Amino acid sequence: MDGDAQRAVRLADGRELIYFDDGPGHDRSARDRRDLPPFAPSSQLRLDPLLDEWVIVAAHRQHRTNLPAADACPLCPSAGGRRTEIPAPGYHVVTFENRYPSLGGPPAGGRCEVVCFTDEHGSSFSALPDRRLATVARAWTHRTRELSRLPGVRYVFVFENRGDEIGATLQHPHGQIYAYPFVPSRVARAAEVARRYREERGGCLPCAVVAAERAGGRVVAETGRFVAFVPEAARWPFEVHIHPLRHAASLPDLAEDEQAELMALYRDVLRRFEGLFERPAPYMAHLDQAPVGGDAGLAHLSMRVFTPRRAADKLKYLAASESGAGAFINDVLPEDAARMLRVAGSSGPGAV
Ligand SMILES: [Zn+2]
Repeated sequence: MDGDAQRAVRLADGRELIYFDDGPGHDRSARDRRDLPPFAPSSQLRLDPLLDEWVIVAAHRQHRTNLPAADACPLCPSAGGRRTEIPAPGYHVVTFENRYPSLGGPPAGGRCEVVCFTDEHGSSFSALPDRRLATVARAWTHRTRELSRLPGVRYVFVFENRGDEIGATLQHPHGQIYAYPFVPSRVARAAEVARRYREERGGCLPCAVVAAERAGGRVVAETGRFVAFVPEAARWPFEVHIHPLRHAASLPDLAEDEQAELMALYRDVLRRFEGLFERPAPYMAHLDQAPVGGDAGLAHLSMRVFTPRRAADKLKYLAASESGAGAFINDVLPEDAARMLRVAGSSGPGAV
C-alpha cells in the first residue's frame, strides 16, 4: 500500500506533508502556492529542578490560529481559490509538521505533527468508516516508526483533543503526534513501576491489571482480542482504557487485522461517549506506547480516552488538588461510569 496510496510533498515553508489514501489512484500532486515565511520553530526545554521534569516553553504559539470560522479552516483542503495547509483539493488522511509546534528547532529538538482524519470539516473520528480507520492506523504506525528514528527522539505520543471545552483550537477532525526529545514523566514513572513489579513478582504489570479488570465489573466492551474498561482508580468522570489481550508494546507490533479490531473498538467507545449526554462529549485520547529504545517488556500498548464532562451541563476542571498536589478527585463512581457507558452503546444516538 505504500506506493500509490502514500505521497510525501513539501509545503511552501519547507515542512513535510504526507498523504495517506484509502487506496491508490488519487492525484495529490497539487503544489502549495502560498507565500509563507521560512519555518523556524523556536521552542525551549527547561528543567524543573525540584521535580526533575521537563517543561516546554513555546512562546511562538501564542498567536496561532484559534477557533477560525469553518470557511477559514486551515485543515480543509485547498479549494475554490482558498489556500490551506493541505494543497490538494481533497484528501483522505494527511500528516504534516505543525506550523505552530510545541517542539522542534535547534534548542528543543523533537517534532510536532498534525494528523487530519478526513477532509470533511463537520465530521468526527466517531463517524469514520472502517476503511478510513485502517488508513488512520497506517498513518499512525508509519509516523510512530519514522519519528522514532529521528535523532534525539525518545517518545512518540499520538493523541487527540476534541472540543473547544478542553482547549482544542481547531474544530476540523484531527489529532496530533508529539515526538518528544525526552521521556515524559508519566511514561517514565509507569516504566519504573512496571520494572519494580517484574523484579518483585515477575511478569508484566499492565497484563496483570488487564486480567483483573476483565474479571471485575467495569468492562465496557470486549472483542476477541481487545478489552475496553473503566479502570478501578479512574481519574476522570468517564475514562476508558483499551488494551490488547496479548502483550504488545506499540502500535507497529500489531498485525493489520489486530489494528482494525483496536480501531473499531476505539470508535465504539467514542460513540458511547456521544451517547452519554445530549450533546457531543469533549474528549482527550491518546496511545500509550513504548519509549524509543526502551525495554519493550516494560511498556504495554493501550489507548486511553476520557471526557471531563461529568454531567450534561457540568465539566470537571483540574483545580488545586489535581494541579497543585497531583491528587485527582473523581466525582463519578467508576462502576457507575462503566454501567452508563455499557448502556450508551445500546441506546445512544451513536449506537451501532
Ligand atoms: Zn476544516
